[in-house]
Amino acid sequence: MTKSTLADLDRYTELLCEVWESGILTHNGPKLRDLESEIDQFLGVDSTVAVTNGTVAMQLALRALEIYEGEVITTPFSWVATCSSILWERCTPVFVDIEPGSFNIDPNLIERAITPKTRAILPVHVFSAPCDVVAIEGISKRNGIPVIYDAAHAFGVEVKGQSVFSYGDISTTSFHATKLFNTGEGGACFASGDLKEKLKSLRFFGHDTDKKIVDVGCNAKMTELHASLGLANLPSVPEVIQKRRAIFDTYRDTLGNCVEYQQFDPDSYNYSYMPVVFESERLLLEVLERLNSANVFPRRYFNPSLNEVESIREVSNGSLDCPVSEGLSRRILALPSYNALTLEDVATIGKIIKP
Ligand SMILES: *Cc1c(COP(=O)(O)O)cnc(C)c1O
Repeated sequence: MTKSTLADLDRYTELLCEVWESGILTHNGPKLRDLESEIDQFLGVDSTVAVTNGTVAMQLALRALEIYEGEVITTPFSWVATCSSILWERCTPVFVDIEPGSFNIDPNLIERAITPKTRAILPVHVFSAPCDVVAIEGISKRNGIPVIYDAAHAFGVEVKGQSVFSYGDISTTSFHATKLFNTGEGGACFASGDLKEKLKSLRFFGHDTDKKIVDVGCNAKMTELHASLGLANLPSVPEVIQKRRAIFDTYRDTLGNCVEYQQFDPDSYNYSYMPVVFESERLLLEVLERLNSANVFPRRYFNPSLNEVESIREVSNGSLDCPVSEGLSRRILALPSYNALTLEDVATIGKIIKP
């Protein structure tokens, strides 16, 4: 489905030489600080706290908001990490179904799922299409419940002229090798004020800037090697988005109405994935078989719907019925989309899907 965007090797080597000269490999070193300020600049924010990966970023976000137990309202249509990070923080995920068009959590269903035990709402901007951030902010304010956005897909996306990472109490993202912008493994939290300082302390053993222990932290520091890879990759992000968009357009031109698409606002989307929805699971499986025999390997992403995973069912409560997410999970396929893919190959894949 995807291949990592590889940074210019000469540029990466240059940065590594600087790391060697400094002799600093980790511990919030100069490359990490450079990366955070370059991401801030790129996104027009002042809130980047880089960490080891996107899963730990969500766990740190829950900790920073002092959520140690209780229920967290979330979506079943996501990567398993959204849910497992809630469970690792000893909280209970409560699944709320999604909207059929945007694939995002349905704000109208969130309020009904709120109980006296609800501690947070953790929605996902699925495939980079922003959630209804205005409606969710209203729910958060009315009920005094904080919002953490899993924005792992949404690097570079803006809503109303502002980075999507600036919505919610904390947003988290992933810089995993397969994401639009990568540091190999990596991720970040985005927050301001005291929350930002708390996140910085939590990623660094609970130390404050004077290395006094002020909190129970963990080790979620990004190394200088990963930060350097990020610095080498960041300048290519606009080009990467442009290429993914061209791939998207080519698929759409070839496939037309033989599949359904996610509904999104083109001004708030980064085209990092190419999800298509088939009429039935049977049809999806037929197409998948044709593609696999032509050496094309798309991915059933996301499948299954997380509320249907046995190990998660055992430890969840609340509404486990999410018919929209369950139905979509069976019929959705993420087609290949990555920098090295040619538009000719995209058209060829399209023709295999629609013979
Ligand atoms: C990739 C991803 C994560 C996890 O990020 P890692 O950096 O791999 O830990 C979480 N949520 C979503 C929606 C993702 O796609």
